[in-house]
Amino acid sequence: VSLSVQFIGTGSALPKKNANPSCQYVFCENRHFLIDCGEGTQIQLRKHGVKFQYIQGIFISHLHGDHYFGLVGLLSSMHLLGREKAIDIYSPPELEQIVRSQLELGGARLAFDIRFHNIEKNDEGIVFEDKVLEVHAFKLKHKIPTHGFIFKEKKKLRSLLGEKFHKAGLSIAFIEKFKLGEDVIDRQGKQHSYLDYTANEKPSYSYAYCSDTAYSENVISWLKDLDVDVLYHEATFSASEKDRAKKTMHSTSVDAGTVAAKSGVKFLFFGHLSARYDYFNVHIDEILPVFKSVKPAIEGEKYRIEELLRQH
Ligand SMILES: [Zn+2]
Repeated sequence: VSLSVQFIGTGSALPKKNANPSCQYVFCENRHFLIDCGEGTQIQLRKHGVKFQYIQGIFISHLHGDHYFGLVGLLSSMHLLGREKAIDIYSPPELEQIVRSQLELGGARLAFDIRFHNIEKNDEGIVFEDKVLEVHAFKLKHKIPTHGFIFKEKKKLRSLLGEKFHKAGLSIAFIEKFKLGEDVIDRQGKQHSYLDYTANEKPSYSYAYCSDTAYSENVISWLKDLDVDVLYHEATFSASEKDRAKKTMHSTSVDAGTVAAKSGVKFLFFGHLSARYDYFNVHIDEILPVFKSVKPAIEGEKYRIEELLRQH
């Protein structure tokens, strides 16, 4: 499956009947990640059928409890379920001490390694990369050091026109080159163009996660520079609570819509609503005049970015 996201927890700090604290599940071509891991994440993952052991990495945006209090519980359960494969955690540096103390003071010894990758306060740039995907961290504007994350598919390979290729009787060693968009010269000295044997590559997609943050120009320039398709942006408050948003360094609905509009993304999800709101309608009404393609992030809902963009 190409780049996809499922909302696991979309609430904010205070407990609410229908909104768990922050967590999102991002997956792409057999790669599986969580962003944030609020309290109760493991129960939420169970509820929505996400397999614990598939998760290879967890990105933690910042150390406010509603973004990571579920971590030790999840790690412990992974151990109980027999995990041996290491897990990577990308987070503010202090998290390592928190997690290791929690485990050690209780005498827990996990059967798998936790590899911590520190994201320092002022770090920005690629924090994870493999053949298919890269993840960029960038600074948000919040009360404590906080990072957003952009998941970006790498440029894909051109697709082989199998029948044409086999008819030509060329060496299969050429396939890789053709897919990369390179011409080859065979042993007889004849040149073969990749254009004859491959079709254009499929487009690559990207997804950005921004929670928690006040309105930030830095966010806009990162989204623009990396040409982000779909944005999740927090909208803790409605526009009438502008002052409270400012004080707590969160965003209003209009802030989220403005960031989406200015950065040129194609679709916006919003969430992390303060417990004072029972419904999404106030936020939607306020965002629509600023940015049209918007939906609330609803717990359990799953989207393939490619499909979402085709529909909107
Ligand atoms: Zn926070």
